[in-house]
Amino acid sequence: MIVMKFGGTSVEDAPAIERVCEIVRSRAAEDPVVVVSAMARVTDQLLAAGQAAAAGDRDLALESARSLRQRHHRTASEMLSGNHLAQLRPLLDSNFNQLEELLGRIAGAQELSPRNSDHLLSFGELLSSEMVSAAIAARGLACEQVDARECLMTDGSHTRAVPLFDATKARLEARLRPLLARHAIAVMGGFIGATLDGTPTTIGRGGSDYSASIVGGALDAARIEIWTDVPGMLTTDPKLCPEAELIPEISFEEAAELASFGAKVLHPATLLPAIEKNIPVYVLNSRDAAGAGTCIRAHVERNGRPVRAIAAKRNTTIVNVAGERAWIPRGFLRDVLAVFDRHECQVDIVSSSQVSISLAVESGSATPELLADLQRFTQVICEPRQAIVGVVGENLRGRQGIAASVFGSVAAAGVNVRMISQGASEINIAFVIHDEDVPAAVRSLHKDLFSGAQADEDQSWMPSPGMSRAGMNCL
Ligand code: ASP
Ligand code: MG
Repeated sequence: MIVMKFGGTSVEDAPAIERVCEIVRSRAAEDPVVVVSAMARVTDQLLAAGQAAAAGDRDLALESARSLRQRHHRTASEMLSGNHLAQLRPLLDSNFNQLEELLGRIAGAQELSPRNSDHLLSFGELLSSEMVSAAIAARGLACEQVDARECLMTDGSHTRAVPLFDATKARLEARLRPLLARHAIAVMGGFIGATLDGTPTTIGRGGSDYSASIVGGALDAARIEIWTDVPGMLTTDPKLCPEAELIPEISFEEAAELASFGAKVLHPATLLPAIEKNIPVYVLNSRDAAGAGTCIRAHVERNGRPVRAIAAKRNTTIVNVAGERAWIPRGFLRDVLAVFDRHECQVDIVSSSQVSISLAVESGSATPELLADLQRFTQVICEPRQAIVGVVGENLRGRQGIAASVFGSVAAAGVNVRMISQGASEINIAFVIHDEDVPAAVRSLHKDLFSGAQADEDQSWMPSPGMSRAGMNCL
């Protein structure tokens, strides 16, 4: 079996869902399990409706629900007719009736609790899975909607619930194996699950990718396909550097490293179940099903180039912490890190000297409370509007001169480097620069590392000449 996951823009309207049906049909012989996101923007709209209800604007909340109801019905009638449409309509209505009732309860409570928020957001994927399942069935393929809340079991940490892998595997086996045995296609919503006692949960925004790989891992899929609206993973963000190219193959380690730099094409946890079971993950474009996409797998042939990709994590702040005296006392680093930990602030890069420590963190996570806490025992200076640039590639391992080329290239662009870290993983070099310098630094690096003298002799992985660059914003 294989898992095919379609993101929100891949199911955003009737033509998109029709493309999905064709793509699924082309893989039908491989026994696909289909995982879908909510239609594009629906999750945000549900959340906004919940917030309006909690703020006392019941009318606005119900108005949003009505417009969502219309959009789903309109899409249904654009792609289905006759019996198929007649069967789908009441399923949509029953979900929308429950949704409106829930919004009424949220308005009554004047509060959007995390538990209610999960319940609210679950409707997005419940609805889209009903729609896609009906559309596939209308093409004469055996198909069934599967309620993800019966299969994806999680703990009770609402809004970012943690999957319970053993329970999930058992439920998926019980629910999906019989379907697979008779070659029926299961369609389930990603992102949503439930606790063992049946309370709806969600596994974090963008979590449908993760759901897909949990299903793939649990059922030992031959591969996991993530269908999105970009051609695949790219060598860098094409908005920063128009020369960005498709990456045909990338290792799990490299892709995970890129995800940690904020590469948006995959939810960061997506690869974990795939890595554990060594299942290749493909990133593919539902608007160009014939495109090669990107294959993420355990081992990738070297292609002669020193790096696989360059990523930039914007929105970074450097927190400089100086010791009270001219040197930092024993245990100081530990104490400082403990403060960040207490405030659940993830530290992306640390560099420390005898007298001070610099930490690069996401700007929003350096909260006033955290800074106040730090100030209690030391002097703190924050530098906002920074960015982390990461250069990632298996070929960096033990390669001499690579740091010189990277920093030489950045210097040639006239960019000052504030902090440096050569990753413990040996496959990345990361450094912090002023955010406004990001385009110049990335363009210079891309030119020197991808199209300069060090580029490979092997041109076979270059993207095909006709490849569209429109909308490629995955890094
Ligand atoms: N619909 C959810 C979201 O917008 C999950 C997903 O699309 O992966 O975050
Ligand atoms: Mg996504």
